[in-house]
Amino acid sequence: MARIVMKFGGTSMAGTERIRRVANLVRKQAAGGNQVAVVVSAMAGETDRLVNFCREANPLYDPAEYDVVVASGEQVTSGLLALTLQSLGADARSWLGWQLPVRTVEAHAKARVEAIDADALTSAMEAGQIAVIPGFQGVSEDGRITTMGRGGSDTSAVAIAAAVKADRCDIYTDVDGVYTTDPRIVAKARKLKAVTYEEMLELASVGAKVLQTRSVGLAMKEGVRVQVLSSFVGDDAIPADELPGTMIVSEEEMNILVEKGEMERQHVTGIAHDKNEAKIILTRVPDKPGAVAHIFDPLAKAAINVDMIIQNVGRDKGETDVTFTVPQADLARAQALLEDKRDDIGFNRLITDSKIAKISVVGVGMKSHAGVASTMFKALADRGINIQAITTSEIKVSVLIDEDETELAVRVLHTAYGLDADDEAA
Ligand code: ASP
Ligand code: MG
Repeated sequence: MARIVMKFGGTSMAGTERIRRVANLVRKQAAGGNQVAVVVSAMAGETDRLVNFCREANPLYDPAEYDVVVASGEQVTSGLLALTLQSLGADARSWLGWQLPVRTVEAHAKARVEAIDADALTSAMEAGQIAVIPGFQGVSEDGRITTMGRGGSDTSAVAIAAAVKADRCDIYTDVDGVYTTDPRIVAKARKLKAVTYEEMLELASVGAKVLQTRSVGLAMKEGVRVQVLSSFVGDDAIPADELPGTMIVSEEEMNILVEKGEMERQHVTGIAHDKNEAKIILTRVPDKPGAVAHIFDPLAKAAINVDMIIQNVGRDKGETDVTFTVPQADLARAQALLEDKRDDIGFNRLITDSKIAKISVVGVGMKSHAGVASTMFKALADRGINIQAITTSEIKVSVLIDEDETELAVRVLHTAYGLDADDEAA
């Protein structure tokens, strides 16, 4: 017998027919003698619809009232799933964020889980009742409803799994796992049996949108074993307990899988792409101490995340060019802030470019293997793809390229690292 948290995304919950399929999957999991809690998203498109209502009602909406509106999507699906489970003869009960409660801190619309009181929940689960919990929602210190930021139901599920000490948190979605890269770009992309938390964090933060990044960080911190798997499966599908999806695990567990021969040790695990960044170039910035601080200080104060930064070698006349990237959504704001500080910073021209893409190769294998970056540079150079900026971490190399070359770059790199489906391990 195991204790399992199952989470279903918006496409799995879109309409009563799909909710019935979900109910069947839940019932099967419970019928195997497991204790089950289910965390649900709103129906696909519903949260967007509710956000639009808020904008129409008041463009400068109060986040606390926004939370009241958008949290309703999950309230509807949790009640509907409980009703459907009951109609199938199962004992099921919904638990709203304030009822558990799921205590959150920080701002409305981007609340963070602080603590979950799981006593009542675990008692119900132990008594064989299926607990259905709306994702995304919590309650603030002063008793008001909160939501956890878009995609927050993943984080709800992981937080519930940590609170009830679940053996596994299964995230059911419309894809059947995490792939070496986007299968819509590379037909030979392979589904991964397992990835480490660290790898998944990097992949999630650079545009592989399977899970909310925050949920992966929480799973890593709490040691929650997470499986990503498809809810769109037939009756003869491999049961979730046999792990048909992708497991997200610690590096130690990964090493055991490699030793057992269940995973191959690759230098690169996955390749992600992100078209949502924009590049800013400031020309002829004075090459003296404090110049760079003048540029990035106003951006930091405005909570604009700067990612890649390059400062060219100083030219004669003591000037240099500084290039960096910001999220595309913040480009206009960043531009205005920098123009405002033109005299303090002392730049000549401000050039922007949003037709760029960031391509990242990720893998814990590169910790112990040299040459991963040079393989990347050479493979791109062979196809005439120009690299505009580079950043690295212990398990990631990212390059900035022209947006039009995104698909080509991803394909070329997938082949270069031996990730194509019919290749042997590199
Ligand atoms: N319904 C919310 C959203 O679309 C939360 C979620 O589904 O994870 O962002
Ligand atoms: Mg999601």
